Amino acid sequence: MRAFLTLLVFTVSHAYAAPDPHSYANFDAVQVSHAHLDLAVSFERRELSGFIDLDLLRKDPAATRVVLDTRDLSIDEVLAVDAQRRYTPTAFSLSRADPIFGQALRIELPQGVERIRVRYRTSPEASGLQWLPPELTAGKKQPFLFTQSQAIHARSWVPIQDTPAVRFSYSARISTPPGLLARMSANNNPLDAANGDYRFIMQQAIPSYLLALAVGELKFAALGERTGVYAEPNVLEVAAYEFEDTERMIEITESLYGPYRWGRYDLLVLPASFPFGGMENPRLTFLTPTVIAGDRSLVALIAHELAHSWSGNLVTNRSWDDFWLNEGFTTYVENRIVEAAFGSERADMERQLAERDLQEELEELPQADQHLRLDLRGRDPDDGLTEVAYTKGMIFLRFLEQRFGRAVFDPFVRAWFDRHAFGTVGTDDFLAFLKTELLDRHPGKVSGEELATFIEGPGLPAFAPRTHATRFDAIDAARSDWLSGKTALAAIDTSAWSTQEWMRWIEGLPASTTPAQLAEFDQGYQVSVVGNSEIAFAWYLKAIEHDYRPAFAPMQDFLQRIGRRKFVLPLYTALMRNPGQQDYARKVYAEARDSYHPITRASVDEVMR
Ligand SMILES: [Zn+2]
Repeated sequence: MRAFLTLLVFTVSHAYAAPDPHSYANFDAVQVSHAHLDLAVSFERRELSGFIDLDLLRKDPAATRVVLDTRDLSIDEVLAVDAQRRYTPTAFSLSRADPIFGQALRIELPQGVERIRVRYRTSPEASGLQWLPPELTAGKKQPFLFTQSQAIHARSWVPIQDTPAVRFSYSARISTPPGLLARMSANNNPLDAANGDYRFIMQQAIPSYLLALAVGELKFAALGERTGVYAEPNVLEVAAYEFEDTERMIEITESLYGPYRWGRYDLLVLPASFPFGGMENPRLTFLTPTVIAGDRSLVALIAHELAHSWSGNLVTNRSWDDFWLNEGFTTYVENRIVEAAFGSERADMERQLAERDLQEELEELPQADQHLRLDLRGRDPDDGLTEVAYTKGMIFLRFLEQRFGRAVFDPFVRAWFDRHAFGTVGTDDFLAFLKTELLDRHPGKVSGEELATFIEGPGLPAFAPRTHATRFDAIDAARSDWLSGKTALAAIDTSAWSTQEWMRWIEGLPASTTPAQLAEFDQGYQVSVVGNSEIAFAWYLKAIEHDYRPAFAPMQDFLQRIGRRKFVLPLYTALMRNPGQQDYARKVYAEARDSYHPITRASVDEVMR
């Protein structure tokens, strides 16, 4: 799945030692404290144009320049704004373009100047923007634009200090063609009319990777007092049904980990080319439509993105090397929300499936990338986006939970969020907090060696807790009874099976399953054309493994409709492993590539070489 990992090793040459290896920004000397964006959205030119005003905090009084991150931006002019609000052009330069990190924008900062204005335009190829023509939207009438800033794509649409170590508040004015609605990771007013002129304020300080904008034909449906969903009109009703539990999940999380501190919590359903499951943009989670299963069975993703309102958005990893602090905590909290909202059987099944995914990925990852604390210097931080940060991080926290007990561990996690709210943290901060708050107070429960094995060691320690979901035992028994001819397929009662049980059934089909058995199962349950994206994905992987051709036409349709990298990348990777399937893979990709997000495209390009 991450065959492209080793190909992306470059060395960054900084003119000075920037404090974050994935950013050129000199935020140790001059730091952005507030940003104001004024941008016009042009679908014809696939361009954002306008200016950004940056308020600066001089940490080093002798500093003479501020350094920002950019990628593929055209900088038209930079103005220094003095205390009398006079705008004077100031010198700037762009460094040579690096394929991963972009260009440093170095701006001369006269004494007394604490605000600058940068006039700029984005490129149609900006990695953080996807411009969709109407035919790639659900409604097929209006174009759509959305951003994806994490990990370091904000710099492709905003000249900014693009590092999670810098937090700033922001405001914005966005002009769009009339009839389209703009929404940001800010104070969206559900009553806004789609008049093409929008203003936003985000008072809570956030890192750049949480800057977000979406523009399209969007309508709103309320889910609760402070929750709602934006979607294209023909998706709105099913989305509102699917996500009805959102308010209840917020209340559950608050009862465990303290108040939700961001005001509203809304969801925005994007077109199917969105490369991820969800993106935790504050106040406005971006979502793939592939979680709309019709039966609310995939809403763990909402639990995940919601959990980020505590882990990640509120308490943020200082650099991408500490990504597990964002995602391991979030995956842990997600599973706790699922347990409280839908019961421990469901939580167990989801966890066991995740542990299996981790195990598979560990078999392919270089050892150094299996540590919780990573060293991604010189590499694209998206390389750290593996199950290690998510699931190994979650297992580590479950290990601590089991050693100390929930009565002790839950208040500890809550205190971690409270004490570091709106701050940034590294792995060492966590270890120090763990020592004073847990280890010293409850000695003898966890050894330093055990901690080091998790944080700095490869793989999963032998003493790591594993999940055994008892509901899967019945699935496994039924499957082998059918395969051995003991039970007829029609005699198995599948009426109450959850998505997770279907996935277990499919994933457990052994290599010895015959073509006739695959066809019987497919015809019995129409699984090649199933609407549930997770079940379809599991089945297509099996179809590839067994070269079961009746699934290939529906799989082609799936790959052309959906751009979520979690599905698309493993399917192409599996196809390219089998020489007999490579022509099919190339043909499907040639037709689908234009509809994929630049992030998905870049990943799949690597496996299609
Ligand atoms: Zn996440």
